[in-house]
Amino acid sequence: MSDSTLKGRIINQIMSNEKYRKLIREILDDTRYHLLFESGKPEIYEGLVAVKNSVFGRMIRLEASSVCQLRCRACSTARGKNRRGVIGWGFLKFDDFRRLIDENPDIRTIEISNWGEIFLNPELERIVRYAFHHNVRLKAANGVNLNTVSPSMLESLVKYRFNYLNVSLDGATHETYKIYRRKGSFHQVIRNVEMINEFKKKYDSNLPKMSWQFVVFGHNEHEIDKAAEKARELGMEFRPKLNHTPQYSPVVNSELVKKKTGIGAASRDEFDKLKRKAYSRPCTQLWDSPQINWDGALLGCCVNKFGSFGNVFDEGLDGALNNEKFTYAKQMIAGLVPPREDIPCLQCKVWKKYNGDERTLPASSTAEYLTHTLEKILTQK
Ligand code: SF4
Repeated sequence: MSDSTLKGRIINQIMSNEKYRKLIREILDDTRYHLLFESGKPEIYEGLVAVKNSVFGRMIRLEASSVCQLRCRACSTARGKNRRGVIGWGFLKFDDFRRLIDENPDIRTIEISNWGEIFLNPELERIVRYAFHHNVRLKAANGVNLNTVSPSMLESLVKYRFNYLNVSLDGATHETYKIYRRKGSFHQVIRNVEMINEFKKKYDSNLPKMSWQFVVFGHNEHEIDKAAEKARELGMEFRPKLNHTPQYSPVVNSELVKKKTGIGAASRDEFDKLKRKAYSRPCTQLWDSPQINWDGALLGCCVNKFGSFGNVFDEGLDGALNNEKFTYAKQMIAGLVPPREDIPCLQCKVWKKYNGDERTLPASSTAEYLTHTLEKILTQK
């Protein structure tokens, strides 16, 4: 057997094992975290992203709809906060989408969900079809509520190989689901998932991959097992998630949640302390997958609802990404320049928690980071 065949077989064996894939993902994530936030080496991460982009193509985030029909408690969209600010209330237009793709043929992946429900966009089918014909992978990993979707849209998701849907289902029964997802119907969402599965059979396709996102609250923690079982039946990956607003329906039985979710923590703060890094720190998106609003406003990350860095539809994608304000923001987040009043991040609780005066996590040195990574590899079971 030649060296290259042997190498290929070893790599395949490693990558086909979920345990190793998870370990590799974690190590890559830790490395990114360390380079950007702890050792102040954003230029190295930027170089790695450039290599990745040249091999796999570029990734951006582009909101298809900031409009939503549900009234989920603790959501800025449902409470009307976003409508009054930079996010606004609207849909990505097909013509803007087409122009962005035509002008940037290196874009290969677009995350299209964020503050609203993508399926309310009346031009979504055209967008999905155009993306397919231009070899652009669309995904909705931030989440969809999947309540209001036409059969023809569901069919298009399969026919045009929409890559991934993360379906928000915080309960295993309608009674529990509706406590948070007000105005939503658990039964309708399940029917829509089943219909997608039928189309997948018809087209003999494994896309879109689907996951069941279960935000863990005090009022639904008793249904984790039941939801995981139902997700398996429907061919969905079960993805429990820790609540970002702990004052709303906090977890009651922490031990149960830690055990049943496999996350090892019952709150984001607890996770941070245990793992010595943030449970979620979307600032990394400024470098690897910048967020753009439906009207072209450059937001940088999926959390920013405070202000814009420019406009991609007016300045062009590279023009906006290289403008002075956005470049300064990246340097500021990496701790290389002082905070500046016009950078929207100063209003963000992620900034306050991890960069500002309220910082709770100490930065680790490169030596500590390497020791931690080595430990992770050696203790991998
Ligand atoms: S500080 Fe907040 S707004 Fe700024 S990049 Fe990070 S998560 Fe986004």
